[in-house]
Amino acid sequence: MRSIRQSSAPLVDPFGRAISYLRVSVTDRCDFRCVYCMAEDMSFLRRAEVLTLEEIDRLASAFVSLGTRKLRLTGGEPLVRRDIMSLIHSLGRHLRSGALDELTLTTNGSMLFKHAGGLADAGVRRVNVSLDTINPHKFQAITRRGKLAKVIEGIQAAKDAGLAIKINAVALKGVNDDEFHRMVEWCGARGFDLTFIKVMPLGDLGGVSRLDQYIPLTQVRAELATRWTLEDTDHRTGGPARYVRVKETGCRVGFITPLTHNFCEGCNRVRLSCTGTLHLCLGREDAVDLRTPLRMSDDNGLLADAVRAAIRRKPQGHEFTPEHSIAVARHCSATGG
Ligand code: SAM
Ligand code: SF4
Repeated sequence: MRSIRQSSAPLVDPFGRAISYLRVSVTDRCDFRCVYCMAEDMSFLRRAEVLTLEEIDRLASAFVSLGTRKLRLTGGEPLVRRDIMSLIHSLGRHLRSGALDELTLTTNGSMLFKHAGGLADAGVRRVNVSLDTINPHKFQAITRRGKLAKVIEGIQAAKDAGLAIKINAVALKGVNDDEFHRMVEWCGARGFDLTFIKVMPLGDLGGVSRLDQYIPLTQVRAELATRWTLEDTDHRTGGPARYVRVKETGCRVGFITPLTHNFCEGCNRVRLSCTGTLHLCLGREDAVDLRTPLRMSDDNGLLADAVRAAIRRKPQGHEFTPEHSIAVARHCSATGG
C-alpha cells in the first residue's frame, strides 16, 4: 500500500517557511559541458546509483501528498534521460487531480524539438530554457558541444506547442557581456521572459576558475538601463529572482543573485538528487537520504516520516560568499540548479 494520507497542513520548516516546491534532478548526465557548470572531462554516477523513473515518481508523488504544489524536473539535462516522457506523463496525473498547481522543467533545449508536443500533452505549461548567447560560435564555446540551431528549433517547437518560455542566461565576463541588449531584444520580440543568473561557486571545473567568470548583476542591470526602460514589478516566484518589466517589449527581465542572503527568508523549496538525496539548501551541504526509507518499505509511511524530519532540518540560509571559485563541492547539475 503506497498512499500517504493527504496532509491538511503543508510542510513547514523551523523558520516558518512553507515548503511547497520540489525540484527533482532526474539525471546528473548531460549532452553539454557548460564551462561554468561542468569540467570538460566529467565523471558521472554509475547507472545503478540512480533512482529508477518509478522510484522518482513515487518520491515526487509522496511530496505532492505532503503538500508540494509545484514540481520542476531538472538535471543534468532532464530530456536526455531515457523514457523521461513516461515519468512526465505519469506525474501529469497530479495536475489533473488538482493536487499539483504546476509541473515544469528546466532544460538546455537540445531535445525540445522532439518533446515539446509531449510536454504540452502531459500538462506542462511553461519551461525554462538555458541559453547564454545567441551567437552560434559562442554557444559552441560555452556549451563545448551544443548546437545553437537545434536549441532554437526546440524553443520554436515549444512555442508552437503553446508552452510559455523563460530564457535563463548566466552572465559571463568577457563571454556574453556584449550581448545583453541583444538578448533582451531577441526575447522581447518573441514574448519570452529572460532571467540573468550570476555564476555560483558549485563544483570543480577541472582547471577553469570561476573567478574569471563573475559579473555583478547590478552591472548588468545598469548596462540594460542605458537603453531600455526598466520598470520595477512586484512579481515574485518564491525564488531568488527579482524582476523588472521592459517597457519597450512588455517582457520581464529577472536577476538571480543567489549569493546574497536577502532571498533566503522567502525560500519555499528543496531539491531532490537523482540518487534520492534531499538537499535542503542549494548553498549548503545539509542533505538527507530518502532512498533508504523509499526502498525499505512499499508503504510510504517511512518515507513521509523521513521527509518531515528532513524539513525540520532545513537551514535558515546558505553560507557561501560570492567570489569563490568553488564553495560547495557538488556541481549544480547534481542538485539540479
Ligand atoms: N541542463 C539544464 C539546463 O541547463 O537548463 C538543467 C540543469 S542546469 C544545472 C540548471 C541551471 O543552472 C541552468 O540555467 C544553468 O545555466 C545553471 N547553472 C549551472 N551551473 C551554474 C553555476 N555554477 N552558476 C550559476 N548557474 C549555473
Ligand atoms: Fe548541462 Fe545544464 Fe550544466 Fe549546461 S548547465 S552542462 S546544459 S546541466
